[in-house]
Amino acid sequence: MQIRELLTQRDFFISLEFFPPKEKEKWSDFFAEVKNLKQINPLFVSVTYGAGGSTQDYTLEIVKILKQDFALEPMAHLTCVGAKEENITFFLESLKAAQVENILALRGDPPRGEEKFVPDSERFKHASDLVQFIREKEGQGFSLGVAGYPEGHVEAKSLEEDLNYLKLKLDLGGDFVITQLFFDNNLYFDFVSRARKIGIDKPIIPGVLPIMSLKGIKRIVNLCGASIPQELLTELEEAEKKKGSAGVIEVGIKQAQKQVQGLLEGGAPGVHLYTLNKSQACLEIVKNIL
Ligand SMILES: Cc1cc2nc3c(=O)[nH]c(=O)nc-3n(C[C@H](O)[C@H](O)[C@H](O)COP(=O)(O)OP(=O)(O)OC[C@H]3O[C@@H](n4cnc5c(N)ncnc54)[C@H](O)[C@@H]3O)c2cc1C
Repeated sequence: MQIRELLTQRDFFISLEFFPPKEKEKWSDFFAEVKNLKQINPLFVSVTYGAGGSTQDYTLEIVKILKQDFALEPMAHLTCVGAKEENITFFLESLKAAQVENILALRGDPPRGEEKFVPDSERFKHASDLVQFIREKEGQGFSLGVAGYPEGHVEAKSLEEDLNYLKLKLDLGGDFVITQLFFDNNLYFDFVSRARKIGIDKPIIPGVLPIMSLKGIKRIVNLCGASIPQELLTELEEAEKKKGSAGVIEVGIKQAQKQVQGLLEGGAPGVHLYTLNKSQACLEIVKNIL
């Protein structure tokens, strides 16, 4: 079923994001985590799209398995990295054959170590180009999600300009927004209110990342431009000193529980959990709300 329809069916929901493990030997462990998470009854599950050939094929393979063997509603991420009309068309045809009806249309990041994103083709320079292409080719055959940035995209000249480009993606056919991670819920509520003011009326789903490692989260926020409140950072550093990585995970889960609760109480339609392919932490995070 298409996510734009699913979004009208529940008062609140959890959706889950996975990434395809690079080594096929790890797939059985990965699917064991998915099986554990099925008990959350996610509204949909999404699978990220890597920068290289085989991991892009894995996205397709995994969404098919999630649909056919797990009876979950999958969404394939798709980026402009390496995008040409032929391979995007192949991707769409493969999704249709597997009855996967949802796509998160993205631009993609610059390769590791490079600061600037250089498009592989003039045709697909921004997520908006993908949205436009898919809508022109497939009409309403897919439900399309797009990314939004409560703190602004790292390359954006201003918050206003970034929000106008988000509106463009939605005006061209995006059905809903999933946000970049953030740790202060006020950033999300402020983003939603700014979006509504410029006429964006589609669902904006907050993305929540459970912190599982101090080094990992510092790297991630550095890349994506999200901020960690100083108080949280201090708490994480102290927990690591006292209890090592277990202490960090404990604080990370507590923080995510608090965030999810606050988002739902504040009127978010649901929460998209960046699972990092780890079921235990996610089950812990949502145990009091389901
Ligand atoms: C929920 C979520 C899931 C993600 N999943 C993946 C994934 O699976 N694989 C992956 O590689 N990356 C993923 N990303 C990261 C994403 O690819 C990066 O954040 C990337 O830098 C921007 O992608 P975008 O789709 O927002 O780009 P765009 O919407 O193209 O925006 C990129 C920049 O260009 C500006 N802009 C937008 N449209 C235009 C336009 N038409 N003309 C001029 N400027 C414009 C924007 O303001 C912004 O600064 C994900 C991000 C999120 C939030």
